[in-house]
Amino acid sequence: MGIEQRLPAYVTSKLQPAINWARKFSLFQYPFVTACCGMEYMSVSCGRYDIARFGAEIPRFSPRQSDLLFVVGTVNHKLAPFLRRVWEQMADPKWVIAFGVCASTGGFYDNYATVQGIDKIIPVDVYIPGCPPRPEQVLDGLMKLQKKIEGEPFEKYYRQNPPLELEEKP
Ligand code: SF4
Repeated sequence: MGIEQRLPAYVTSKLQPAINWARKFSLFQYPFVTACCGMEYMSVSCGRYDIARFGAEIPRFSPRQSDLLFVVGTVNHKLAPFLRRVWEQMADPKWVIAFGVCASTGGFYDNYATVQGIDKIIPVDVYIPGCPPRPEQVLDGLMKLQKKIEGEPFEKYYRQNPPLELEEKP
């Protein structure tokens, strides 16, 4: 729950840009890393790319302390309910980045075992293409997310949980 819900509307309309500005520069990541994209995720955290410039350098390994879920790598049907649970345990407002083509679409794992895109399980804010994506692409995705946060009205933070649409395993 955000502080906006506790304030009158005329106050929130003035406060909203300041709150959004603070949120976009204080993202706490939860890395849900499953596969080879993890190497590229680690390189983004290194000094050369300096993700601290964007206020997103601190990974938290508890979903309750995170507001940005990075899904990095392939997600199979066995893993999908756990990803969903992690997302549900994060407090609103929260955002999701699909890191790499496997998380975004299933990639070249077009088979019965692989979820064909994590948006079948949880809502996704930004998709980063590539196999694996370059660190520059990751930073570009992060900046796109910041733009989105900057312009979001606070009603969007309280979205409904989408249904879990997992296919039956054969
Ligand atoms: S997108 Fe490529 S590098 Fe990333 S998890 Fe899939 S196969 Fe691995």
